[in-house]
Amino acid sequence: MKDRITAVVLFLLATAAFAADAPPKVVALRAARMIDGRGGAVVSPAVIVIRGNRIDSIGGAVPADAQVIDLGDMTLLPGLIDAHVHTLLQGDITSEDYDTQLFKESLAYRALRASKAVKIALGNGFTTVRDLETEGAMYTDVDVKRAINNGVIDGPRMVVSTRALSVTGGYGPSGYSPEVTYPMGVQIVDGVDQARKAVREQIAHGADWIKVYADRSYFVAKDGTLSSTPTFNAEEMKAIVEEAHRLRHKVAAHAMARPGIENALNAGVDSIEHGISIPDDLLDMMVAKGVYLCPTLSVTDYVAAGRGGIWLKIPAFHRDSFSRALKRGVKIAFGTDAGGFAWDAFNEAKEFSYETKFGMTPMQAIQTATRNAADLLDMSDRIGTIETGKFADIVAVPGNPLNDITAMERVGFVMKDGNVYKRP
Ligand SMILES: [Zn+2]
Repeated sequence: MKDRITAVVLFLLATAAFAADAPPKVVALRAARMIDGRGGAVVSPAVIVIRGNRIDSIGGAVPADAQVIDLGDMTLLPGLIDAHVHTLLQGDITSEDYDTQLFKESLAYRALRASKAVKIALGNGFTTVRDLETEGAMYTDVDVKRAINNGVIDGPRMVVSTRALSVTGGYGPSGYSPEVTYPMGVQIVDGVDQARKAVREQIAHGADWIKVYADRSYFVAKDGTLSSTPTFNAEEMKAIVEEAHRLRHKVAAHAMARPGIENALNAGVDSIEHGISIPDDLLDMMVAKGVYLCPTLSVTDYVAAGRGGIWLKIPAFHRDSFSRALKRGVKIAFGTDAGGFAWDAFNEAKEFSYETKFGMTPMQAIQTATRNAADLLDMSDRIGTIETGKFADIVAVPGNPLNDITAMERVGFVMKDGNVYKRP
């Protein structure tokens, strides 16, 4: 009996040792061309060898033991990065859409819907996303991220910001009787002490980034410019940024017009989200401080008709602001606000077409979702370009996206961390 137990134990140890020592899987990708994300010329033809979850070699010999995936007339690209999404939101053209999700859907149900959203994102070629707040779903983004990392569900690498911050009266739901208690879309804080505490709390519960709402209530001022009502005062905004940076986390600010953008930039935020109407002097400040613009062009267009009012005028301001930011050399990272439109309403990769329509070259647009977004996320050492040693996050689109940018909406091959999630 004892011998048998010893034999079983030895067998288990041997199996464990074999599993640990098993050589990583080798895959070779072949395609007509490759855009590596660094901005150089298109490489044609292309071959990439992946060992385990890393890029092992580019353009070299294919090892004899490699599994070869030939993608024919496709273009290989770095896994795409969407730096502004809401996986816990499923469309909010109107406040009714929004309130229904907060009032009638449990966090468990919202997590299940998010599990579908992240699968859609990955299928569209987005191997990394920055989730910029859960819209009332508390810390559920941390759980979605954990479920992906543990292999429970398929989805992109996630950088999360949990609840976001605004002030009393600064965020929805709104318009209900003061006697009614209901959940808020963000964490409401007032004053420097509450602001600092909330930053500490969110980071303690898993926030990678801090998201702050810098302005609200947009209107066209007498001089014809877009303006807004600020949320936090200068001291509160500074306290939020200072506390986040002190704890080695970055801050993204929703800021649409001067009152919010100026306050956010003065406080030292790391990215301006939307930036619907950024005056030239503030664009120059963004360049000087190295602050990223994450423009989210497609959602502006998508929600305008349904929201009506001032929103009908916002796309024109947005286009003008984006074009000036581009000319003045502001760093731009790809972001869509997916979730602001229903995840299955349209492919978030439509944003590439907006970027080119508003002045970018196709190569510039591709770089916003690869090298630039990786830089914004401080992940350039691991993702964003196809280079030896980086994570094997690789996608492929049919034909050449430099000739037809809408090819980015037809991702036919997705590899994340060396695993294939989609192939022709
Ligand atoms: Zn957003």
